Amino acid sequence: PVRKVLIGLIGAGIQKSLSPAMHEQEASQHGLRLHYQLIDLDRTEGASASDLPALLQAARVMGYAGCNVTYPCKQAVLPLLDELSDEARAMGAVNTVVIRDGRLIGHNTDGSGWARGFTRALPDANLSRVVLLGAGGAGAAIAHAALRLGVAELRIVDTDAERVGRLVADVNALYGARAAAVTDLAAAMADATGLIHATPTGMDKLPGLPLDEALLRADMWVSEVVYFPLDTALLKAARAKGCRVSDGGGMAVGQAVGAFELFTGLVPDAARMEAHFRAL
Ligand code: NAD
Repeated sequence: PVRKVLIGLIGAGIQKSLSPAMHEQEASQHGLRLHYQLIDLDRTEGASASDLPALLQAARVMGYAGCNVTYPCKQAVLPLLDELSDEARAMGAVNTVVIRDGRLIGHNTDGSGWARGFTRALPDANLSRVVLLGAGGAGAAIAHAALRLGVAELRIVDTDAERVGRLVADVNALYGARAAAVTDLAAAMADATGLIHATPTGMDKLPGLPLDEALLRADMWVSEVVYFPLDTALLKAARAKGCRVSDGGGMAVGQAVGAFELFTGLVPDAARMEAHFRAL
């Protein structure tokens, strides 16, 4: 008999998510029948993150193998879980809930997903002095992953000083004092070996450049997280300067690769998932 797997994504404003296509297509290659259901809190009047307990209980009763969770649920889900992976605990955020034997186990594949995409695109990147612009949800996950990957000095810049201060304190406590909160972006960029961009600037609804393009140099790499569109103003400017670049698709695919493996116990073909994503 064909193995059937039910997965959900709980979040707000997720209608454009490419996760259903990525998971369902990869599953079919493994002979699985997988259905990936969008559970969009914006689609039901009055629905909010406070419905999470009921939604997770329903998923458990309906035999779901798990759910991805996204904005605004990545932190709200924490107290509802029976178990947390080391990575999710360190980040204080969960994007993947595996349901096994009725227990809810929280994981986070955002940071490892970024690292997977980054190392695929820029395998020999110089990790000596890296600027991380943006310390929100994506930036925080990437800060953990970048330090785990071996970034020697991580300079984190965010207009929200409190947020960046908290993130620096968190990661330095875990990985040694390699991160610093930086306010002078130009000075931080002057001798940086790479830039990771993790603010929303460059998205379709927020077009433009997140920093002065004069701060980019041909000898640095640029890793972008924005992926609607894939080819952002920042990537265009960086390529024009001669920088090596990695786009936001790498992280989007990488987090799905990690989640697919956790949900199904099968090892997905990451290159095939990436090729499919890029054809969508
Ligand atoms: P967020 O709102 O949680 O964080 C954004 C952070 O950027 C905030 O802390 C904000 O203060 C900061 N910021 C905004 N403008 C700034 C500026 N000019 N200078 C310095 N800091 C500034 O958002 P998020 O969830 O982290 O998402 C950020 C972007 O990453 C979005 O475009 C999102 O779509 C994208 N994203 C991509 C992936 C992927 O898989 N590729 C995954 C998650 C998020």
